[in-house]
Amino acid sequence: MSREGIRYYSTNLKSGTVGFSEALLIGLAPDGGLYMPSYIPVLDYEDIVNLSDQSYPEIAYTVLSRIIGNEIESEELLSICRDAYNFEVPLEHVTERKYILRLDQGPTASFKDFAARMMSRLMQYFISRNNRNLTILTATSGDTGSAVASAFYGLENIKVVILFPPGEVSAMQRKQMTTLGKNITVIGIDGKFDDCQRLVKTAFTDNTLNHLPLSSANSINTGRLLPQSVYYLYAWSRLRKSHDEKILFSVPSGNFGNLMGGLIARNMGLPVKRFIVSTNSNGEVPEFLGTGIYRPIDPSINCISSAMNVGHPSNLARIVSLYGGVMDQDGKVLKLPDMALLREHLAGISISDNDTTNTIKECFTRFGILLEPHGAVAWKGLTEYLKDFREPAEQLSVSLETAHPAKFPDEIMKITGKKPVLPASLSGLENKDESYIRLENSYEKLKRILVEYL
Ligand SMILES: *Cc1c(COP(=O)(O)O)cnc(C)c1O
Repeated sequence: MSREGIRYYSTNLKSGTVGFSEALLIGLAPDGGLYMPSYIPVLDYEDIVNLSDQSYPEIAYTVLSRIIGNEIESEELLSICRDAYNFEVPLEHVTERKYILRLDQGPTASFKDFAARMMSRLMQYFISRNNRNLTILTATSGDTGSAVASAFYGLENIKVVILFPPGEVSAMQRKQMTTLGKNITVIGIDGKFDDCQRLVKTAFTDNTLNHLPLSSANSINTGRLLPQSVYYLYAWSRLRKSHDEKILFSVPSGNFGNLMGGLIARNMGLPVKRFIVSTNSNGEVPEFLGTGIYRPIDPSINCISSAMNVGHPSNLARIVSLYGGVMDQDGKVLKLPDMALLREHLAGISISDNDTTNTIKECFTRFGILLEPHGAVAWKGLTEYLKDFREPAEQLSVSLETAHPAKFPDEIMKITGKKPVLPASLSGLENKDESYIRLENSYEKLKRILVEYL
């Protein structure tokens, strides 16, 4: 196999292709599109079979080395994989052949650790090789900010600036960001998450800031998607009974970065029966799958699975592109993807808050399993699908749990009467000192800070 790295194209098709490291470091393509690999390498049958003998970091290496190619030395990549994935990835058995993949054991107890930890280490590798500096500017409604802050904390040559809406972030999420210091600067904006995101976008398109090496770390960055394909392969490799057994996944979705990771794994040769796309009441994608008509929800609906309150998912343009269509950044479908194939691979379902809390309660009383709102949306999506399609009990099925229940102590207490135990990584936070800047929702003020600080 050639070690030549894969080229990345922009979904808007107006910028030229770039290599992996450039796509990673610039984030958004110059034409405003999202970078996508020009092809996805397929693992040999033997590679797929051998996954079952590999550890999580080794599977990450197998996958990422195919995609990044010769832009990084093998030993270096393997050691990054070992360093990034030094925590458990449990598969919790529920009933029959149904499992929950717990992606909540990383340092910030959300699945965003998987991408952030890999991305930070790869960025660090590529910039230090070229003696460059980098500033990551990102807006967060909670989980992304804490995962990014934790993943980049203490790295040399990289500064991180995080904007967050103080009124929309839980105390625990805030403290995960504001108690670090060093290269992590946190700014509370007097406004909503959308205001934070607007400020970030303005900074990225401000030509007078071109001298600053700004990059992004949210799910528009292709560097976030590739690490998210690994746990799909991992789950199958631990559970499969035969080399070609097909697996069902239910993915709790907001911006659809997680699902994109799954689609990449499928294209690499993972035998997936279907992905169940489980959303909260922001059900624009399940509706699109059903009707072929895409109607973004603006403003998005507030649900308890707050990280999935997205009315126009940023990765939808990538999914449309993967299936032969074109969608611009405003969500306008310029060319319809192959809807028949899309429906063969994906089944969409939208779950209400009421069903979400009932599912948390039911899972706890029936199976003794504690889910939080995002994982409950996925589990409910899976059970509805299994019922509707009359799948046999032996169908291998995995539902993704994307955050730790202890991140939602009050809700979980109210629903189950049980207070979830804090994982070690989150305990002791309340006694640490916080420090962050409070700022009006003003681009000029933010710009002054960026220019002075960077
Ligand atoms: C970000 C997030 C999601 C949504 O993931 P996407 O990749 O945006 O679809 C789901 N659950 C939790 C806990 C999250 O933090």
